[in-house]
This record gives sequence, C-alpha cells and structure tokens, in this order.
Amino acid sequence: MSAPQLITGIAGQDGAYLAAQLLARGDTVVGTRRPGADAASLWRLRELGIAEHARLRIVELDAAQLDECRALLAALRPAAVFHLAAQSRVAASLRDPYGSARANALSTLQLLEALRRDSPASRFVFASSAELFGNAPAPQNERTPFAPANPYALSKHFAHGMTQAYRSAHGLHAGCAILFNHESPLRDPDFVTRKIAAAAARCALGAEESLALGNLQAQRDFGYAPEYVEALVAMAAQPRADDYVLASGVATSIRDFATLAFAAAGSLLIWQGTGVDEHAIDAHGRVRIVVDPALFRPLDAAVLVGDARKARAQLGFAARTDVAALAKLLVEAELLNAARFAQRGGVL
Ligand code: NAP
Repeated sequence: MSAPQLITGIAGQDGAYLAAQLLARGDTVVGTRRPGADAASLWRLRELGIAEHARLRIVELDAAQLDECRALLAALRPAAVFHLAAQSRVAASLRDPYGSARANALSTLQLLEALRRDSPASRFVFASSAELFGNAPAPQNERTPFAPANPYALSKHFAHGMTQAYRSAHGLHAGCAILFNHESPLRDPDFVTRKIAAAAARCALGAEESLALGNLQAQRDFGYAPEYVEALVAMAAQPRADDYVLASGVATSIRDFATLAFAAAGSLLIWQGTGVDEHAIDAHGRVRIVVDPALFRPLDAAVLVGDARKARAQLGFAARTDVAALAKLLVEAELLNAARFAQRGGVL
C-alpha cells in the first residue's frame, strides 16, 4: 500500500478541502486534530461528505510535543505532511500570543525535527501567510522583505524561517505556501467575508438588521480556498521544494466586498458618510452596514495583494474564481444555510 498523506488541522477549512481532493484521487489520508477537540468541529468534513470515508483516519496530536510528532511520523512515514494546523486568526493572537507561538511556531519546529529524525523522505508543505508582509508595499511576492507586525505573523515568521532552515541545512523537501486570503463557505462563520455574506443573505430574506464592520478601507486579496489547496498538492509534487506566493493578484476593500455580496443577494448598497460615520443603505433606505471602531484591528496591514507569477509558472496555479464570483458563491451558500435553518423551524 502506498504511503498516506498527513494533514495537520484537517478539520479546518483548508484541511477539509485538501482531504477531499486527496481522497478523490485515491490517496489514503490521516488527519490530525488537537487532543480534546470536539466532534462538532468535524462539520466541514461532513459538509464535504468525507467524514466517514474508508480511506480517512483522524488522530489526535499535540504537535508542540516532540515525542508525539516522532511517534506519529515514525508509524506513518507519510508521502507528504501538509502542516495546516494553526491558531489562524490575528485577533486571537493578540488576545493569546503565547497560544499562537505554541501552536504556530513551536509546533512547526517540532514537526520538522520529527521529520528529520524519523521520516526524512516525507515532503513538507507549511501554510505560511501573507500577514508576514505587514505593511510592505504591494504587490508582494517571494522576494518582498517580511515585516510581521502582530503575534500571529511573528509566530508564522518563525515557522516559515524554520521550514527554510530544515530545507537548506538538513535537505528536507520542505516548502512554504505564502497564502493570501482564501475564502469559502467552510470559513469560520465569524470571519469577515462569511459575516458579510450571511448578512446579505439574511437581508435578502427579509431580516431587519445592520451589520457592524471594522476598517472598510482594508484591502485584501481574496481567492477561493479549493484552488489554493490544489497548489499545496502541486508544491509537494515539485522535484525541488520551494516557497510560493498563492494569491489572486487583485486587491478588494472590505467595502467593495460588501457591495459585491449584497449585489449577489439582489440588493444595491449605497454608501454614505465618512470615517466612523460611514454606513451603507439599501434601495429602501434601510441601514445595512455601519462602522464599529471597536472592530478596528491594531496594527492592521493596509494593502495585502500578492504577485503569484512564480506559482503560476511552476505549479500551474491559477486563482480562477474572481472576487465577484466568490462573493456570489458565499451568498448562495448562506441562502442555503438559511433555508436549512428555516426547515428546522428556525426564525431568522
Ligand atoms: P482554520 O479553518 O482556522 O483551521 C486550522 C485548524 O487548526 C483548526 O481547524 C483547528 O483544528 C486547528 N487549530 C486551531 N487552533 C489551534 C491551536 N491553538 N493549536 C493547534 N491547532 C489549532 O484555518 P484555515 O483557514 O484552514 O487555514 C489553514 C492554514 O493556512 C492555517 O495555518 C492558516 O494560518 C493558514 N492561512 C490561511 C489563510 C486563509 O485565508 N484561510 C491565509 C493565510 C494563511 P482542531 O480544532 O480540529 O484541532
């Protein structure tokens, strides 16, 4: 039997899509979760219909423990390790910097060390982040100097550097995917794109509400998650490991994303006011979006937009779903969620 693929953080957005892609091509997949993570959080695997797949096994791993990483890698000797588990939110890292350092920096080091000792032929793909660029001028590519400015970015920066060090010093096939925002209906419901899509869907269904957002000017590079995990698979298959920016190359402000999502739900937003008084009304004059200064992030990167030409040339990566199609896809998923909720007797 061929070696399995190992995915840390399989229950997350990317882990679920990656598992589905690998299973679909016939691979055996082992996915890790934190000890004690609850069963409900396997919802993404259920959504994709793979939770009970015969070639999928889920195990617990505290990746900050070297002996646990070593035992797992020695037992599996996986074809590749896709290291996606992370405390993946900037806001959470500001509340709990130690937790981010442990989950993102220390765990990556321990996995690399376990690989070196027990499974050096395995390929390693690390989920790095565009947050490493901080406020570096856009567009950012693999040669742009990093300027990490929050605990999440700093923890990922350490892990990114360690991945490169294990590649150059120990010859591991280890590469970093410098991931710009990639979204899907499997994003955490409280992530800004899903919050906007859910509000647009609820408003289309008649709910009387307005959504509070933070910095409307922040510009991000939004792609569609399944296309980004395809590139992770391509990275593991490269003859030589390397680091790649994965991005759509298009910057969209939070304001414009909201306009697109409401349009996809059939509602034209009209923006009025400036600064913290800025708000959006719909065609009936109902206030649909307001600004809440409490939601502004300290040290927020102004413009993150990636130049993914290297990934396009070497991996065949393409962000095929543009931001308008992405907003539409998210709103449609939220409309479906709302219909399911109503079927169960819920009131919007
Ligand atoms: P996600 O949905 O938050 O999933 C990450 C998974 O990691 C979670 O499902 C969780 O699984 C596990 N996890 C959470 N907190 C943890 C902690 N403190 N210690 C150990 N494990 C923890 O993230 P994603 O969107 O799939 O992203 C995948 C990776 O890409 C992450 O490393 C993220 O930082 C990186 N990335 C993502 C984006 C993006 O736009 N999505 C952009 C840049 C970088 P369990 O609860 O089952 O253990």
